[in-house]
Amino acid sequence: MTIKKHCAAFDLRLAEMRAIATKTSMKWFLWVNILFSLFILGRRFFSPFDASTPVLRPAGLLETMVIINLILSSGILFVLRMAPVQQAQWLTTLSKSTVLALSVCWAVCFYVLISSDDVRIIFPFAALLLFTALISLYFDPKVLLGFVVPVWVTILITTLFHRSSLTVLNALQWVLLAGLLESGRRMLNSWFLLALRREQENADLIQRLGQLASKDPLTGIANRRAFEARMEQEILTHRRDGKRFGLIMVDVDHFKLYNDHYGHQRGDECLTVIARTLEIATRDNAGVVGRIGGEEFVILLPDADISAVQRLANTIASALANQALPHAVSPVSPYVTVSQGLTIWEAHQTAESVIARADKALYMAKQQGRNRLTVAE
Ligand code: GH3
Ligand code: MG
Ligand code: MG
Repeated sequence: MTIKKHCAAFDLRLAEMRAIATKTSMKWFLWVNILFSLFILGRRFFSPFDASTPVLRPAGLLETMVIINLILSSGILFVLRMAPVQQAQWLTTLSKSTVLALSVCWAVCFYVLISSDDVRIIFPFAALLLFTALISLYFDPKVLLGFVVPVWVTILITTLFHRSSLTVLNALQWVLLAGLLESGRRMLNSWFLLALRREQENADLIQRLGQLASKDPLTGIANRRAFEARMEQEILTHRRDGKRFGLIMVDVDHFKLYNDHYGHQRGDECLTVIARTLEIATRDNAGVVGRIGGEEFVILLPDADISAVQRLANTIASALANQALPHAVSPVSPYVTVSQGLTIWEAHQTAESVIARADKALYMAKQQGRNRLTVAE
């Protein structure tokens, strides 16, 4: 995979993971919002406002905001639980808009509390709320900022304009809180990205291992395991479509003699050339080539009758003849040749039985003198 493609895949996965994480932690965040709203309501019930400062404390504004907060949180919680498709894009958009709306509600609540001189609980309460938001939303900086900024800015500005709470120490503690939130976000986000990178690396590794486990290392074509798996798939497809496929077993003639004469290294090169020849010959017919033994290959020809399979076997024989790979010690030809056993898969046959039939036909071809093709009876 190129670096560009890799980066694009990572960005895609990041967006996907953020969406999943948002939906997961949204539920907890909404529950916290409900509890905090109930806390504010309960507190108001047990210690109601002093009615002497009406200007900056519009009647019922705090209660209204807290109730909106409650309704919004429980409504969205219900939607998140009941949504039939949990991965839907609209759920992510809804979650993000909810975070912003909740933040505005809380900002108004803090404004009312500060302007009503009810400042004692502001710092611990706001810190708890903002750290809760950090834990729930650290992986999506924009959404987290969407919650933190309205609350933080409102508290700071209201504090600055409200004489009783205007102290250097007060301003400092809000700046310190912002610093803590940002450093915490960076730290948590780096863990999130690290976990995602590790996951991506593992997925790549599994894919590479899968490819290695299904390929023959010498020739690069499908190994026995991969070929048989593919054959099972083809059986299902052909059975469903009511079609037939052909199978050819290909065995290099007198290959032991070739190795003995030219050496194992040249033998390897010869097998690679043969595999490539088989691939080229079958390419136009969407054939599948596999190496199922030392010098034995197998070809599956989809949607074929016996004459199509014979045509392919002849193409292979003449392609190999054109290669004219010398085989000085072969009793059948001065060049490398193959024997081929042909058969057609019938709907009732299993993979093993069709391979056995092709093998039998190959045996016949060997018996009859090699360098030829034989159709299974
Ligand atoms: P026949 O014409 O009856 O097929 O005889 P053969 O010699 O081709 O068949 P046999 O089964 O007697 O020998 C197969 C040889 O293939 C023996 C082995 O050394 C060789 N062979 C198997 N795998 C490899 C390989 O990966 N590389 C090389 N170079 N040789 C291999
Ligand atoms: Mg053999
Ligand atoms: Mg052989």
